[in-house]
Amino acid sequence: MEGRATVGRTGAPAGRHGGWRRRWPGPLAAALALLAGVAGACGDGGGPASGEVPGISVQGRRAPLRVVTTIGMLADAARAIGGERVQVQALMGPGVDPHLYKASQSDLELLRSADLIAYVGLHLEGKMTSIFERLRQRRPVVAVGEGLPPERLRAAPGFAGTYDPHIWFDVGLWSEACGVLAAALQALDPAGAEAYRAGLRAYQHELAELQAWVREQIATIPPRRRVLVTAHDAFGYFGRAYGIEVVGLQGISTVSEAGLADVARLVDLLVERELPAIFVESSVSDKGVRAVVAGAAARGHQVRIGGTLYSDALGPEGSGAETYLGMVRHNVRTIVQALRGSSAGDTRGD
Ligand code: ZN
Repeated sequence: MEGRATVGRTGAPAGRHGGWRRRWPGPLAAALALLAGVAGACGDGGGPASGEVPGISVQGRRAPLRVVTTIGMLADAARAIGGERVQVQALMGPGVDPHLYKASQSDLELLRSADLIAYVGLHLEGKMTSIFERLRQRRPVVAVGEGLPPERLRAAPGFAGTYDPHIWFDVGLWSEACGVLAAALQALDPAGAEAYRAGLRAYQHELAELQAWVREQIATIPPRRRVLVTAHDAFGYFGRAYGIEVVGLQGISTVSEAGLADVARLVDLLVERELPAIFVESSVSDKGVRAVVAGAAARGHQVRIGGTLYSDALGPEGSGAETYLGMVRHNVRTIVQALRGSSAGDTRGD
């Protein structure tokens, strides 16, 4: 499936978000737009004229392309699609919360030297948006979530006119987002177009298999127990795609902490519905979740921590969740084991 890249261009009028944006109908248009961005970069800030910047020419960048991404899931996709034609680095490692992440000086240097910057957008990387808007004037930048058709996105509850950025929780939607990323790579490196298409095809095949497996697994949870209670409201796309009710202690972002009212609301829900488990997230403090467990216990209902889910960051090396495919499998196994009720005592998933 081909996606659409959303890219910026030098010298264009500023839009509502401070930069010029437009949706492109396909990879070729994305290519033209990205190359316009490259030509712009060559004349930026009194730098060398077009063609004199190492590794850059108006014909495209030389492989390997240096790709810098925000979250690890995007880096993983870039490696899968680009293979040897890309050198990929993620700014946000295991356990890092993208909603709160602030770029360090070395991050900025990495971003300034990147051939392609890829982020999710849709306000996921809340503290970095202005940096990307500035970089968009000088470097090829793609916000993969913003290249998806809006009708495929979930409205963000409580934030009028915005979308839920956690698009990787629906494997099918993430597959489409990979198409947007592949289109950006093809546009920047047309000589590798066939390689990127083949890489995308192979990866999307794996994603389609994963999607079918997730559906099978969730179907093994008794319908009345298909309720996923987590630390923050990251799993909305997961719920929509796989038919599971999702309730978060915190909202769609982790910027504001959960209050007593949020804890009380969840305790009521767990007690009334006799739900067996609540989940902690690797990139969010578990303080609130533990308060909910204690609150339920005080009312005579034992809720256990169903395990740790990787929500907004991949797992560390060796965890089995250090790739996107592994992360999804880990989360689904953890959720199914805790909610199915057939493996009492197993609280950690895999
Ligand atoms: Zn989140």
